Amino acid sequence: MKRVLITGAAGFLGSHLCDRFISEGYYVMGMDNFITGDKKNLEHLTNHQHFEFIEHDVTKFVEIKGTLDYILHFASPASPIDYLKIPIQTLKVGSLGTHNLLGLAKAKNARILIASTSEVYGDPLVHPQTEDYYGNVNTIGPRGVYDEAKRFQESITMAYHRFHGLETRIVRIFNTYGPRMRLNDGRVIPAFIGQALRGEDLTVFGDGSQTRSFCYVDDQVEGIYRLLLSDYAYPVNIGNPHEITIKDFAEEIIKLTGTTQKIVYKELPQNDPLQRQPDISLAKKILNWEPKIDRAEGMKITYNYFKTLTKEELFKSEHKDFAQHIKK
Ligand code: NAD
Ligand code: UDP
Repeated sequence: MKRVLITGAAGFLGSHLCDRFISEGYYVMGMDNFITGDKKNLEHLTNHQHFEFIEHDVTKFVEIKGTLDYILHFASPASPIDYLKIPIQTLKVGSLGTHNLLGLAKAKNARILIASTSEVYGDPLVHPQTEDYYGNVNTIGPRGVYDEAKRFQESITMAYHRFHGLETRIVRIFNTYGPRMRLNDGRVIPAFIGQALRGEDLTVFGDGSQTRSFCYVDDQVEGIYRLLLSDYAYPVNIGNPHEITIKDFAEEIIKLTGTTQKIVYKELPQNDPLQRQPDISLAKKILNWEPKIDRAEGMKITYNYFKTLTKEELFKSEHKDFAQHIKK
């Protein structure tokens, strides 16, 4: 049985990856320190004979007993609100955490895939974004803690590949959504759905003309799975190229949820990218991958998930208490 370590396992993408690898017949070790994740995302795997959970902060030395075939490094705060609240932890998990996991991969002779992001392109001047675009990033702006951590992560991963001959994979993930996103992580989909369910107005930042392209989680996981098993060591965009303005998206949510609330406009956060759409030609060519689930279908599933949350969860609007998860 192949053994895989997934960091960030209690998070949104990490927990879906755990499910996928278990269903493919792997022995899965999930690692997380719960800083932005939730135990609930892994509850269904607690007694699974092919799953093991290790509570650990990956910025500290990572030790795994026995053999390891693959590592998927997904630990990192991922929403702008999260990484603005825990900027140092964000920088550390992308840099020190990635270094530890590369070291572990080298020691175990394992293949490692790291979760990068469309944020490496910053506020892009090339549209749609192709993998050969170097990006337009403000190193010292508020988003810099995430963007630069991810850029460093790519650099150190390529250095391990070139210098140590390590088998590495880099996925550049574009906005992905689905069940198990945290309702109050500030990302636009849980934000809008939460507002609609609570009977609040939908907050569009700026004039809403900025664009995003939303990928359903099952499509994202399929792309990641294929990339891991491919022989391609350079970054690959995985996302859904179907682009929409945030204002039009808010209107879609109003229709989907049937809310009688309206859109209210708030200040656009600093360095909020004005446009984002993946060019997925490379993924199509080398992975024979493209998204299958359109936004209408994916959003219906996601909305149904959020509808199962209890009233208490829905109205627990205060942000997660990060401090209790930061161990010295
Ligand atoms: P998430 O916040 O739901 O999950 C991240 C998980 O990592 C959480 O469970 C958190 O507790 C854990 N974590 C953070 N720091 C840790 C540390 N030091 N040690 C151990 N665990 C730690 O976010 P997500 O959306 O699932 O994102 C997962 C990965 O995918 C991240 O690396 C993110 O940058 C990347 N990504 C996601 C998206 C997206 O749209 N969802 C887009 C681009 C990139
Ligand atoms: N956004 C918004 N209202 C919200 C939350 C987000 O208008 O309540 C906007 C945000 O400014 C950005 C887009 O939605 O332009 C996507 O934001 P998100 O935080 O989901 O991810 P990003 O792509 O910016 O990392």
